[in-house]
Amino acid sequence: MNCTKCKIKAVIKLPRHNAAFCKDCFNGFVHDQVAKAIKSQKMFSKDNRILVAVSGGKDSLALWDILLKMGYKADALYVNLGIGGYSKPSHIKVVRFAETVAAAHGATLHVHTVELDEGAGIRELAMLVHRPTCSTCGTIKRYQFNRAAIEHKYDVMATGHNLDDEAARLLGNVLRWQEEYLDKQAPSLPASVEGFAKKVKPLYRLTERELAAYAVLNRIDYIVEECPMAKGARTLLYKEVLNRLETESPGTKQAFYWGFLDKQSKPEASPTTMAEKDQAALHPCSACGQPTTVEICSYCKLMARAGSAKS
Ligand code: SF4
Ligand SMILES: [Zn+2]
Ligand SMILES: [Zn+2]
Repeated sequence: MNCTKCKIKAVIKLPRHNAAFCKDCFNGFVHDQVAKAIKSQKMFSKDNRILVAVSGGKDSLALWDILLKMGYKADALYVNLGIGGYSKPSHIKVVRFAETVAAAHGATLHVHTVELDEGAGIRELAMLVHRPTCSTCGTIKRYQFNRAAIEHKYDVMATGHNLDDEAARLLGNVLRWQEEYLDKQAPSLPASVEGFAKKVKPLYRLTERELAAYAVLNRIDYIVEECPMAKGARTLLYKEVLNRLETESPGTKQAFYWGFLDKQSKPEASPTTMAEKDQAALHPCSACGQPTTVEICSYCKLMARAGSAKS
């Protein structure tokens, strides 16, 4: 198997593009896909300051690597969730990447430790407030990313969601016709209020397999294990189903998700977006000042419940 572009020996075959690439041409392909995502979704420019959400996994570290190599000003935030057996090794991988590749580009890593700042690890907090771990985690991560972006004046927050993640999420939303979530599935969401960072997903054109290959070929040392809390999640089932379809018919995932984005971009498809509706209802949380649609934001409510459960 030879590289479709330069004809030397290929290291990866991409059936959905009917192509095979050597390492250099594959890196070029990955950077091109990210450049297309940034341009077509008007994500950011070289003047913007970007905060990448890193977890220690392949997608987020690959994203940080790609953005730095493409010449963007990208720092990162890692949230240590305090999950025994997972958070420590993932933290080590992030710091190792930050001290080598990122430091060589002059980029900074910010770290937020849930056990220190919220007073307990994510599992204990979830038990205290009687909520599922992942929903507690989501509230805390969203809050801390928004806070870090405001405090350090970042224009954009970037996450490592890939094509598999987005197609699986879309399948879940479509199966239950959750229209309110469909509206928020764009790879580029504007800042909800003035001073807030916009949210982007520059890897939405690349699959999980392509990102794993990018990480391996570029010697990015990432944590292979998923967060143990993800076990049994419905998204994993949707990913499996989509992988079966993809094997039978290469290109299914991109046709599904990109087709949705095409329809969504038509003006008549969404006269008033959820983001616009949310924006109209937003005001500062009376406890912490961050924007919320209710009196007290969900993070402050969660922390108040955790505090009273402890005392
Ligand atoms: S699987 Fe759940 S607990 Fe783990 S990082 Fe994801 S949302 Fe957080
Ligand atoms: Zn080549
Ligand atoms: Zn608040």
